Amino acid sequence: MAEILIFPVGGVDDSITEFLALSLPETLKLPCKVSDSTISLEGAYDIVREQYYSTKLLERLLLHRAGADTKLLGVASVDLFIPPLSFVFGEAQFNNPAAIISIHRLHQRFYGLPEDASLLYHRCEKEAIHELGHCFGLIHCRDFRCVMYLSYSVEDIDLKSNGFCEKCHAVLRKKL
Ligand SMILES: [Zn+2]
Ligand SMILES: [Zn+2]
Repeated sequence: MAEILIFPVGGVDDSITEFLALSLPETLKLPCKVSDSTISLEGAYDIVREQYYSTKLLERLLLHRAGADTKLLGVASVDLFIPPLSFVFGEAQFNNPAAIISIHRLHQRFYGLPEDASLLYHRCEKEAIHELGHCFGLIHCRDFRCVMYLSYSVEDIDLKSNGFCEKCHAVLRKKL
């Protein structure tokens, strides 16, 4: 039975992972739960960049692989990077089980603005669905309203919806 398992990566606010466990099934139509295991950040820190290497954490997440149809979603509160990019909101394995998102740059306070919990939750949800979409074999979409649109900034994230356009949805339906 296909399902989504959420793993806190390092320390993450429970309210974020619990929100995702409740909201992701609405869009992805799959059961979703928060794992009891946590993914360690150890050894992933880059002292020069002061960020964590996303791909290393993704590999660690894969060690928790359960059934063939289980997707693993890591949620980190630290800042992630993949060389040569200066930062990433998330990373996923195309057509594979693991994805990770970082909430670090999804906070309004990161941009010097007053914190907005509801906005933060919805940004997390969109980025989680986007990365999991890659796990289901979806590529980036040109429709800026589609969740598979590549977001370079939180403004891009706020513009897109938490759902798939018709084209992406048709591809996804074949995989679920
Ligand atoms: Zn993407
Ligand atoms: Zn689309």
